[in-house]
Amino acid sequence: MRAVVKIGGSLLRSAQHFVEAAKFLSSYESPVVVVSAVKGVTDMLIELYKTRYESLYEAIRDIHVEIAKRLGVSGVEPLLKELRAALELPEGPDVLDYFMSFGERLSATIMNGLLKRMGFDSKLFVAPIVTDDSFGNARPLEDRSLASEIDGHEGIAVVTGFIGRTKDGRFTTVGRGGSDYTATFLAKLLGYRQVVLVTDSPGVMTANPQEVPEAKILPMMSVEEAVEAARLGAKNFHPRTFEPVSGGMYVEVRNYWSRGTVIGNFYAPPPYKVVLRCGEGSCVVGLEAEEIVKLGGEYVSRFAAQVPMPPKWAHDLFVKPYFEKLVWIN
Ligand code: ASP
Ligand code: MG
Repeated sequence: MRAVVKIGGSLLRSAQHFVEAAKFLSSYESPVVVVSAVKGVTDMLIELYKTRYESLYEAIRDIHVEIAKRLGVSGVEPLLKELRAALELPEGPDVLDYFMSFGERLSATIMNGLLKRMGFDSKLFVAPIVTDDSFGNARPLEDRSLASEIDGHEGIAVVTGFIGRTKDGRFTTVGRGGSDYTATFLAKLLGYRQVVLVTDSPGVMTANPQEVPEAKILPMMSVEEAVEAARLGAKNFHPRTFEPVSGGMYVEVRNYWSRGTVIGNFYAPPPYKVVLRCGEGSCVVGLEAEEIVKLGGEYVSRFAAQVPMPPKWAHDLFVKPYFEKLVWIN
C-alpha cells in the first residue's frame, strides 16, 4: 500500500538536504511525497508580498537557483519569472496566498526533478486539493477531481504541501505549518492508510524539551490525543493536522532515523501524554484528563485539562511518574 510521506521544510535547506530526503523516499514503494517550502522561504515570501523589495526577491531566487543548479534540476526559472511578475500585483488576501504558493511550488519542482534524475518515474502535482476561498486559512473540500490523477500515476507522486486551489483555480493556503495537514487530508481523500510526517525532531515529545529537558518521545498516541495536542499548539502542528485520521489510518511522526511516534485509532499508555504551556499555566493532554479535572484542574476538553503551574511542574506531577513503568524510545 502506498504511503504519503511529508518532508518538512527544516529538512530542505540545501542541495545536500534534498539528496538526503530523496534517499529516504526511495525506501518507500511509489510514495506520495508531500513537500514543504525550503526552510524560511514562506516567511520571506510574506515579507516580499508586504515590501516588494527587489533584493528580497533576489534572495529567494538565489536560494532556489543554487539548489537546482547543484542538483542539475530544471524548472525553477519559469516559476521565478512568474514570482518576479507578481511583484506588480495589488494587495489582497488572494495575492498573499499566491505569493506563498511559490515556496512549495519551487521546492516540489526541485524534489520532483531530483527524483527523476535518480531514475524514478516521478510526477509533480501542484495543489491537487480543492479548497474553499478563505484565503490564508482555506478549508480543503472532499473533492477528488484534482487528486484522483495521483491515484492513477504508478510512480512517485510529488505534491506541494500547504497550498490548495479554489474551484475557479486560484491558489489558497491552509494555514501556517499546513503541509502536515495536506498530507493527512490527501491520504484520507485517496484512501491511503499510512502517513509519515518527517521532521527534524524524533517524534512527538511529552513536553517542549527546551522547557522540560527530561521530556521523552511518545511511542504511541491515540488520534483523539493528537488532535487535542495539535489544537493546543504542540510542536507547531497545524491545529487540524490529525483531524482527517480515521479508520485504519495511522500517522508516524519521526525524523530519518527514529522510529518516531505512531498515532492511530488505538489507546495506549501513559494516561497523560503531552504537557503544554497554555493560558496562565499548563495543559495536560491525555486519555485520563478527566481525572485531573476531578482533582481541581480546569476542563478543556475530554482529553485535556488545565492546571495552574508551569509545564515543568505539570510534567513532573503527571507524566514523570510513568517514566519507570513504560518502555520509552529514548
Ligand atoms: N511552508 C508552510 C509554512 O511555512 C507550510 C509548512 O511548512 O508546513 O507555514
Ligand atoms: Mg511544520
